Amino acid sequence: MQRLHLHLPDEAATARLGADLAQVLAPGLAIYLHGDLGAGKTALTRALLHAAGYQGRVKSPTYTLAEPYEVLFAGRMVTVIHFDLYRMSSPEEFLDAGFREHFNENTVCIVEWPEKGDPVLPPPDIHVNLTLAGDGRDVELRALSDKGHQCLARLKF
Ligand code: ADP
Ligand code: MG
Repeated sequence: MQRLHLHLPDEAATARLGADLAQVLAPGLAIYLHGDLGAGKTALTRALLHAAGYQGRVKSPTYTLAEPYEVLFAGRMVTVIHFDLYRMSSPEEFLDAGFREHFNENTVCIVEWPEKGDPVLPPPDIHVNLTLAGDGRDVELRALSDKGHQCLARLKF
């Protein structure tokens, strides 16, 4: 499966990657964002949503755990659901909230702290790992399904 490694020297580079991802996403994808606090998971998601045309504020749904956004991907309205599971106390909470139903062919699900949803979270199509690297960040993007692979193959920098 496909892997990409990039160095993101500053926040603008993170924003450009978010915009590049917004060009290639398709409904039905689940993207999991790994990385410590401050690694840039929310910054990447925010850039992606803004590049997809969302004009409001994007902050991490730390307390609500999930926040939906209606955006356009390739001329089609798609619901992007941004999850932040950091404060989730147990995987049962994920099931009880009905979050599993949000993972379907009509949505793009972007999940911060997917580890907290283990083992009830559906498997991701794309795994993103952000790490601190000097003043910037390193990022690894890995496709874990055919759909994720097709998406990353279309990335243009
Ligand atoms: P997380 O959601 O992973 O906890 P945030 O996105 O909330 O992290 O915060 C990331 C912080 O790092 C922000 O202050 C942002 O400005 C900064 N940042 C994002 N990308 C980079 C980068 N490539 N280089 C340096 N700083 C970055
Ligand atoms: Mg965050």
